[in-house]
Amino acid sequence: MNAMSEKSAPYWWEDAPREQSVEIAIPDAMDVAVVGAGYSGLCAALELARGGASVVVFEAGVLGYGASTRNGGMLGPSFHKLGIEGLKSKYGVERTNTILRESLGFVDYLRDFLETEGIDADFVQNGRFRGALRAHHYDAMARQLDDLQAAAGVKGAMIPKADQHNETGSPIFHGGVVYDYDAGLHPAKYHDGLVRRAREAGVVIIAQTAVTGLVKTATGFDVVTARGTTRAAQVAVCSNGYTDKVTKDLRRRVIPLRSAMIATEPLESGLIKQLMPNNRVYGDSRRLVAYYRPSPDGKRILFGARGSGLDDNPVANLRSLRFSLSEIYPQLSGVPISHVWSGLVAYTFDHVPHVGQFGGGQQGGVFYAMGYCGSGVARASYFGNKLGRKMLGVDNCETAFDDLVFETRPFYTGNPWFMPAVLAWHRIADRFGL
Ligand SMILES: Cc1cc2nc3c(=O)[nH]c(=O)nc-3n(C[C@H](O)[C@H](O)[C@H](O)COP(=O)(O)OP(=O)(O)OC[C@H]3O[C@@H](n4cnc5c(N)ncnc54)[C@H](O)[C@@H]3O)c2cc1C
Repeated sequence: MNAMSEKSAPYWWEDAPREQSVEIAIPDAMDVAVVGAGYSGLCAALELARGGASVVVFEAGVLGYGASTRNGGMLGPSFHKLGIEGLKSKYGVERTNTILRESLGFVDYLRDFLETEGIDADFVQNGRFRGALRAHHYDAMARQLDDLQAAAGVKGAMIPKADQHNETGSPIFHGGVVYDYDAGLHPAKYHDGLVRRAREAGVVIIAQTAVTGLVKTATGFDVVTARGTTRAAQVAVCSNGYTDKVTKDLRRRVIPLRSAMIATEPLESGLIKQLMPNNRVYGDSRRLVAYYRPSPDGKRILFGARGSGLDDNPVANLRSLRFSLSEIYPQLSGVPISHVWSGLVAYTFDHVPHVGQFGGGQQGGVFYAMGYCGSGVARASYFGNKLGRKMLGVDNCETAFDDLVFETRPFYTGNPWFMPAVLAWHRIADRFGL
């Protein structure tokens, strides 16, 4: 029991409460078993079912337990998170530019998808402001914008310090950049809409039923759960930051990290307008990302950053997020916080998401989409759809991300024991503006 007055469930669940799980019979066999009912799993399942496959999605927790109903709902191509220089040196400039151009389409893809499916998820495309915490960060942002404009036609503009009051009420920045494509939505309403469309298409979604084993057979896989074993011709693993030992070869390739958020109590509307004048989504140039935005109803500020440790620790997360929020917006020091919550994201060793079919080893033959490096709202939707198309073997299933080597490191088994040291180094680097 914690003695906090703040609620430790996601703010989003107030508007979109999690569904009570009912026990659904597990079919004896299916064309495809999907592990995980977040955006990746549901988008893959929807595409597969519409392509004629019988699909069962297994979810270990309540429906929407994972990051897909816990995130900030901030969408973008997330260029600053791609290891662009690393990609160039490994795959060449042309391939890297193809990846950048495809990334630019992720938000449009999701916007069109929501519109076509008639899912009301409070989608608003007002762009993103990223503040520069140091003058040299501003210069680096300007160089990156030039590079991205040349490579992929990215639309955006530099905002000098003298004009930044038009973008933010924070006094701490040395100017910043606006990216036009970025957008915001209500993550749990989007998830609920996906669940509805998937069910209408015939997908069976079984919550609170973890897949505990996958055994290769002559015709596919035996899928083992605590409620019995069933058979699937194909398996899609869509467990991202929650990838467990059941798929240990995939677990070795993703680094789980905790991301945490807080929501303020409703604020005076004039204050929100002063702090976030253009109702964009927001971030800055620190290495340990902080991300923030007004709530879709425009009444609160939602603020996220790296969480403390791998376990959920609402007391520590509240303390550090409240501190970071008031560093950026001193006007918000001491404002009451209503919710604090967190979830797991998955980083990869090369900073890019991965989608495809696993070659050898224990999980040989399973398909997967994961590793969105903390920016998965649009990416998971897009890659989930591509994954479904790959499994159906239909056209338009290719991505520029195909065949990138899904790296691991010797002796890494999925326990990121080295991350506290890495995060401590980033914290020091942020403090000194390195
Ligand atoms: C606090 C927070 C803030 C974020 N903010 C943003 C943001 O603003 N913008 C953005 O783009 N991204 C953001 N993200 C990241 C984004 O939410 C994720 O990248 C995305 O939701 C991943 O979707 P997914 O379907 O791949 O995984 P998830 O939604 O995490 O779903 C994976 C599911 O797999 C289930 N699972 C795992 N193992 C098993 C098993 N053996 N059997 C059955 N089920 C299993 C888990 O229970 C889980 O529900 C944020 C994440 C967090 C946690």
